[in-house]
Amino acid sequence: MAIDEYGQIIRRSSRPKTTDDENEPQPEKAEKSRGVSLEFDPETGEFVAVADESASKEKTVKREKRDYILHSDNNQKPAEKVNLESGEAAYVDENLQKIRELRRRLKSRRDPLAYKQEISALGLEETGLSREDMGKNGDSRTGKVTEKHRQTAESQIEDAKYAMREEREARETVRKKFKLDEHLDNLADRYCEGMSEEAKAALLARISSFEGNKKYAVNENRSDDSQYRIAGKGEDGRRIYDLDELKEFPDINSDEFKSKVYAPDSDEHNYTVSRAKELLEKFAGNDSKVSQDLKNLLECSDIEFRVRQDWKYPNGSCAFKEGKFGEKNKIVICLCDLGKTGDEALPGILAHELGHALDFSQRPGFARTQYMDGSETFADITGTALAVNAGVDPRGFAKFMGQDYDKKAKSGQDTQMLYSPDGNYRRENFYLAFREMSWAKQNREKTMLQDKIDGLRGVSSAREMSSGAQTKPRENVNNGVNMAVVRQQNGGR
Ligand SMILES: [Zn+2]
Repeated sequence: MAIDEYGQIIRRSSRPKTTDDENEPQPEKAEKSRGVSLEFDPETGEFVAVADESASKEKTVKREKRDYILHSDNNQKPAEKVNLESGEAAYVDENLQKIRELRRRLKSRRDPLAYKQEISALGLEETGLSREDMGKNGDSRTGKVTEKHRQTAESQIEDAKYAMREEREARETVRKKFKLDEHLDNLADRYCEGMSEEAKAALLARISSFEGNKKYAVNENRSDDSQYRIAGKGEDGRRIYDLDELKEFPDINSDEFKSKVYAPDSDEHNYTVSRAKELLEKFAGNDSKVSQDLKNLLECSDIEFRVRQDWKYPNGSCAFKEGKFGEKNKIVICLCDLGKTGDEALPGILAHELGHALDFSQRPGFARTQYMDGSETFADITGTALAVNAGVDPRGFAKFMGQDYDKKAKSGQDTQMLYSPDGNYRRENFYLAFREMSWAKQNREKTMLQDKIDGLRGVSSAREMSSGAQTKPRENVNNGVNMAVVRQQNGGR
């Protein structure tokens, strides 16, 4: 079996031998993974798979019944085990495993456990056994182990190792195929729940639109901001570029960082952060997809809020660092001092920054410094989804950005912002998303309520009727599309 680019299982014609594994460059390592042997445990009447001799001598790792240690070959990567009943490899440490599962749920929409079970089941069938034999590796009552039990265990262990190799290869495929704009588009599509296809398409087109993106020409030997500039006419500007800043994760304990923010025990800090935390709870507290993804992210992340002393206007920032293996991710969100700016912009700012966190956390690691102006539009759309689903209006921030744009435009100042579409485009992001998402949410709720009422009455065809009405585009949505197209064609506003 193999996995194709859509995550579907492709059946392999013959099972590759573990000894042919070319993905283990070091002979020592290859020796280790190859050396999985079965040892019979007379106490439990089961086979235990051990990775190599040294692992079999390590009696310190407590093995549960039906857990088969796959490898623990270095100190960096935590030990893993495979459960033959489920076919799933897991960290021996339960906490590490929990975080790993949360991360997986966040990153992948397909079910990795079902996938591995299917590999295991098909492997058994290919060996001439049946999928019903899965997990039957001995008679636990009598301790008797037949040749069939032994074959089943061997088949499953080989498939577990195969699945691990598959995972590695799938990661390689992702590396080759990852496209930032597609990643943002797919994610935003997930968060635009219940919208008509037309309205959604018009909204998502804003992420990769050239109207919103300024086509930065990137200097290869970039050493400071001045080397980033807008591509001239006929010049080949790159829409997606590398933003070195994303590599740097702030050291919140450094003197330099501390000098920019209020002390965490100050009134200023507490005032802003307590409001942010109230909102965060609402954002992660409903059953929309964006809220559930945020909840999963927060469960495997440590989040720190800081309030900047030097920001005079509504503003925010987000830094994300993925935890290696079992560690938690780290998220640092900086906010403006609400005592200076007022509360109105906070929902939009916080939701937008969390939109960045959702984006970064669901990218493959190598792509974490990739950037485009559309990343800001994505965070606006995702932030609006977070707010709307929590019953919060995020437009205060957009109002500020729009007014700032109007003021600059009126006085003939440069309205463009570094690494971001201008304030007018950002205002539109929020207002359009808010309009469409509020409508879709109301519609979803109406449908649910109607279903409930009809259910109580015993009417069965209620869902078909109401969902039919839901997909019919409204007139003003069509206007929205046309307007967006016209604006793009005219190349301005
Ligand atoms: Zn942003």
